[in-house]
Amino acid sequence: MNRSQTTKGLSLLTRFKQDVRESLTGDTLYSQAVGDSSQLQQNQTMTSKAYRYMLLCFTGILVPFIFHNFYSADPVVGWAGVLLLAVFVASIWKLNKTQRPLAEPAILVSLVLSLVFFSVSRGQTYSLYWCYPLLVVIPVLLSSNWAVVLGVINACFVLPVVLTRFELSAGFTIFFSMVLTWLVSAWLMYVVKEQSRYLTRVAVTDSLTGAYNRRYFELQVQDALEMWGRYRRSATLLLIDVDFFKRVNDKYGHSKGDEALKTVVRLITARARSVDAVCRFGGEEFVVMLRETGIDNGMKFAEDIRAMVEASGILPEGTLTISIGVCEVKDVVDADHWLNITDAALYRAKHNGRNRVERASVEIVGLEPKAKTVPEWR
Ligand code: GH3
Ligand code: MG
Ligand code: MG
Repeated sequence: MNRSQTTKGLSLLTRFKQDVRESLTGDTLYSQAVGDSSQLQQNQTMTSKAYRYMLLCFTGILVPFIFHNFYSADPVVGWAGVLLLAVFVASIWKLNKTQRPLAEPAILVSLVLSLVFFSVSRGQTYSLYWCYPLLVVIPVLLSSNWAVVLGVINACFVLPVVLTRFELSAGFTIFFSMVLTWLVSAWLMYVVKEQSRYLTRVAVTDSLTGAYNRRYFELQVQDALEMWGRYRRSATLLLIDVDFFKRVNDKYGHSKGDEALKTVVRLITARARSVDAVCRFGGEEFVVMLRETGIDNGMKFAEDIRAMVEASGILPEGTLTISIGVCEVKDVVDADHWLNITDAALYRAKHNGRNRVERASVEIVGLEPKAKTVPEWR
């Protein structure tokens, strides 16, 4: 069930609260980190919703501004405001139809600020008040680079205007209060985004090894299945289990065991590409989701990491090895099936002597004792 279906029955206020929460609390960043295509689509919807609310906010600022300028007999600025209002309304209308807005946020903020300063330079000093909400909006609405650029342009505009319209000390007071407004808003946005980025990272990372965790892996599986179903984009799954790991713990202690797990992850990650996901499935088991990779390259990857771990001399004595089951997305029907037949291939690798790579095939599942939910090598 997609989100638009779930929000349909909600009241206006509940929907508004949900939209704002999703747009500004970092859910968007989370979807970006996950790289999940369906989530990314949802993310775009959230971004345009946030933008629509900002446009409504701008409209609220602009309407009294226009009235004020007509009332103060400066129709030039008033008509410029009406024109801008038309751009806002058209942008909101286009966003409602899930199209691109008429003007991007940076352009709109620049236009509104220019209009306000134009109005101030024509003698409408009262218009200066409209700058404050706009200065708060800049960092909220734009990426940090744009917010800095517009903040500086704004400062260059405002300084000569306030200095020529007010006496020196009043001019500086207005100027610095504006800079402060902008800085506080920018700083708050920065803190919120950093916090959100940190929480996102923590939410999808395994604390011991630094690999992605199981939650992230499950999202990757869903995404890979969707990409295969919709666009026929291949993906290959590797299920990896460290051989006789219990003996490592028994012989060298738990902390050496932890070190060994970290090294295994480091070796696998070094061989993986940035689009692949190396995740800890649980205990001494790992999964790797290789995107845009067929079974042949998947087998090659698995053989490479098996050989790397064997040759790495992780343990002071003897050799640490891994067994791997490999399965391509085109052989499976759903997430459970994918995991089951990859697990069956791993079971075969264990059964055939460990330190091996086995390729899954649909027939293998029939040959393996399927009723056994926990294989004996676990
Ligand atoms: P097999 O080759 O059949 O997989 O043998 P195994 O000994 O690896 O399998 P088994 O499932 O019996 O043991 C897994 C061990 O992994 C048991 C558990 O103590 C250890 N283990 C799981 N998670 C961690 C961890 O985070 N740190 C350490 N040090 N050990 C862990
Ligand atoms: Mg094991
Ligand atoms: Mg195990």
